[in-house]
Parts: sequence; structure tokens; C-alpha cells
Amino acid sequence: MQIFFLGSGGGRFATITQKRCTGGFRLHAEANVHVDPGPGALVRSHVFGIDPTDLDAILITHAHPDHYTDCEVLIEAMTRGATKKRGTIIGNKTTIEGTDFGGPVISKYHRSIVSEQIVMQPGQEAKIKNLRIEATKAVHHDPDSLGFRFHTPSGIVSYTSDTEYFDELPDIHKDARVLIASAMRPREDRIPNHMCTEDCINLIDEVKPEIAILTHFGMKMIFAPPEKEARQVAERTKVKTIAARLGLVVDMGEEVKTRYAREQVPLDRFL
Ligand SMILES: [Zn+2]
Repeated sequence: MQIFFLGSGGGRFATITQKRCTGGFRLHAEANVHVDPGPGALVRSHVFGIDPTDLDAILITHAHPDHYTDCEVLIEAMTRGATKKRGTIIGNKTTIEGTDFGGPVISKYHRSIVSEQIVMQPGQEAKIKNLRIEATKAVHHDPDSLGFRFHTPSGIVSYTSDTEYFDELPDIHKDARVLIASAMRPREDRIPNHMCTEDCINLIDEVKPEIAILTHFGMKMIFAPPEKEARQVAERTKVKTIAARLGLVVDMGEEVKTRYAREQVPLDRFL
């Protein structure tokens, strides 16, 4: 079981500048899924030698561009250039159907070429091959925002996605072996709809995963920098905590190990 990070940036300015890249992450378990493919997801996949045509599903937690923009090109990869009706898209209501907030953010055409589209609400479950996926509640700008929990044979991977801290959040993500938390702001620099480092400390201290990964860094977090914030979290919670960056790989077996993948194809190949 493996998690592969194709970026760790988030929010408008980190996305515009691509300071930490915004490709979301891939989870390779009983199925291959790409979660929150923001700008650069396709290109960064190729840079690391990851084949986007082997995807079984694309998952989108909410209708913000740093989470969905590369979805349509990944659908084209997943469907082998729209020649095979295959794969699943899983998203919140805004992403797939559209709501008063906005959307749908995936075109009717792209929704028509996949095998299945699943709109999820918090608490609902879906299965891709034998990978059980649970949607979790998130409190964010898009009112239908979700997080996801992946039930794999190597344990639970829980992803908060963008949310502010709320009382039930630790309970929702309990028993996670790997907890991926969106940490937009450093220290106690709290803004609505997002978590800061202090919120992450509260969450991680309650959940006590084997390892916590911070990601989705805004500009203030990037300048903090995230590695320093992650050290703070680890000191306060006694939980191994890592600041994600492009190419971070989490291997889950008997132990949870992290490493950094090498770029297989330099970016200038694309020039
Ligand atoms: Zn967002």
C-alpha cells in the first residue's frame, strides 16, 4: 500500500505561484485512485513515472480549483483517451451535480465517458474494486465539502481535506494509521474554513495516528516553513509528523515508512 504526493500546496496564492505544487496525491491499494488533482497533477504524474492511465478512480473533495482542475485530463487518461468506458469519479455534490455554491466542475462529456459517477455525502461509503472508501464531514467554503477515509488491508488512511477544526473532527478520523491533514496556516494563525498548526495539534493529539502528514500549505505556511511546523506538532503530540512535499512516498506495510521518490523524467522534457 502506497501513498504518493504530487504536491503539498493549497489556497489561491500557493496555487498561482506553484511554490509547493498542487497535484494532490495518489493512493495505490486494492485500487489506484487519484485524490484532489489540482493544477499539475497530470504533469507531475509523468515527471515521477506514474501512469495516469492505470487509475481506477478520481476523487474530488470539493469544488475549488486547487482540488479539481486536472480531473478532466485524468478522466481522459483513465478512459484511455475516451476509447474505453472505464473508471469511476467520486465527488461531492457540487463537483458532479452542481449546487447553489457552484459547479458542476466536470463537464457533461467527461462525466459521460466514465463507467460510474458517485456523489457522496458524509458517512456514505463506496467501493472501488475491494477498496472501501468512506466520505467524511468537512466544514469548508463549499458547504458540501468532504474528506475521505480509505480502509485498506494495511490500515486506515484518513484525509481531512480542507476543513476548519470542529468538535467531532477527531472522532471522525479516529483509528487512522496514517492521518493526512490540510494545514493551511502556521501556528495559531487561524482563518475560517481552514486549519492552522494549532488545530492540527489538537486533531493529531486526539487521533494519535502512527504517522501524521501535513499538506495543503498556503503561502504563510510555506514561509513558516511547514517542516518547522511539523516538528512542533511532533514535539507536542509525540506523533511522528511530516510536512508533505512533491515526491513524498508513504509505504504502509508492517511499518509505515516514508521516502522521497526521484524524478524519472525531467520537466524540460516537456518543453
Ligand atoms: Zn478548498
